[in-house]
Amino acid sequence: MANILIVDDSRTSRKILRKILEKGGHTIVGEAVNGEEGYLEYQELKPDAVTMDITMPKMDGIEALQLIRRFNENAVVIMITAAGQKEKMIQAIKYGASDFIAKPYEGSDVLKVIQKFVAE
Ligand SMILES: [Mg+2]
Repeated sequence: MANILIVDDSRTSRKILRKILEKGGHTIVGEAVNGEEGYLEYQELKPDAVTMDITMPKMDGIEALQLIRRFNENAVVIMITAAGQKEKMIQAIKYGASDFIAKPYEGSDVLKVIQKFVAE
């Protein structure tokens, strides 16, 4: 079971992810609404994993990913992607994204990816 930080500008998306993750036995230690807040919360909360939306105001998920991985090179950052974000996905791989969850997703898809990194 993991302590997870959710970074997403959509309140609905955060709510859905929280529900899925909590149902899977994980703890949501924080929620952030943009990349900047996500980066600051990451440093403070040191979660086991982050779910990172890509398109957000102020600072996007790619930039936040870079900052978080610079802060902790082993950070587990899982990008939530939507159709048509291939370029962003390539950038995310380059900056060390741990994995991807493509929208629309089922709860089981999300839990399967998280479990890859926080098993046991
Ligand atoms: Mg968004």
